[in-house]
Amino acid sequence: MDKVIQRAYAKINIGLDVLRRRADGYHEVKMIMQTVDIYDELVLEKREQPGIELRTDNSELPLDGDNLICKAVSLLFQEKKIEEGVRITLTKRIPIAAGMAGGSADAAAALRGINELFGLGYSIPELQTLGVRLGADIPYCIVGGTMLSEGIGEILTPLPAPPEAHLVIAKPDINVSTAFVYGNLHADRLAWHPDIDGMIAALQQGEMDGITERLGNVLETVTVREYPVIEQIKELLRSQGAQNALMSGSGPTVFGIFKEKETARRAAQTVEQRQLAKQIFVTTFYKEGYGYSAQEMA
Ligand code: ATP
Repeated sequence: MDKVIQRAYAKINIGLDVLRRRADGYHEVKMIMQTVDIYDELVLEKREQPGIELRTDNSELPLDGDNLICKAVSLLFQEKKIEEGVRITLTKRIPIAAGMAGGSADAAAALRGINELFGLGYSIPELQTLGVRLGADIPYCIVGGTMLSEGIGEILTPLPAPPEAHLVIAKPDINVSTAFVYGNLHADRLAWHPDIDGMIAALQQGEMDGITERLGNVLETVTVREYPVIEQIKELLRSQGAQNALMSGSGPTVFGIFKEKETARRAAQTVEQRQLAKQIFVTTFYKEGYGYSAQEMA
């Protein structure tokens, strides 16, 4: 095989709780991850010269060893002592530094793609164990779908997908560093925690209202204080018919959940007209993930 194409899907968090800060500086999380139908595309091709050649249509991204794709490829090449070369062409659609795990999704797609292209034979759990060295969200991004994510993000439990819905996803024109948000979070002083267990029960019962009324993200305490536009977008989406709205991950991206596509489309237009966000999508949950079963993950 000389060429492999991989999609890298973005995620949102419909619930995000931080339980504590560990002695090693990592935060213990309890979050519900959900793939959405926005994806980057990676075309991986073997090439004669050794090394990694990365091309992309997005001029903001590094093309050298700082890109998470290159880190992922180097990791597998080193592990398996691969002397050949690869050319990767990335079409970037996921907003950058947005709280949608775009970099992690690309790294995960590179791990899956290199595994396939070079016939390395890694199982999904093996790829996840390697991937977590590069980032806590990567084990999730390798499989996608609806998952409870615990530990630092590496303990994953599949959940039923939420019922059908339409989403408006809006990223205000600011870049938020995940490290800044976690660095300014006082995990031991949080006055409120989202009801993640209640949300899991609502997912199991397929009850949309039980899900939307429990949307919650403790990282809003840091990011919204810094960037009030996030709260403005949430309020606007709710006033435009969203059942509820929330910031995803460390932000600043906001999503609203709608019953009707037409209402979602009009709400997206209003966000655009008021110039609250530059990157705006009307999309849906992507329920299939990458199609791995719970057994393949065990
Ligand atoms: P998360 O939700 O995991 O915190 P994020 O959406 O906040 O992710 P990313 O888009 O993954 O953030 O990128 C954060 C930083 O990582 C950017 O500053 C970017 O330069 C760097 N980066 C390295 N490789 C990539 C990549 N392939 N795609 C996007 N960003 C990348």
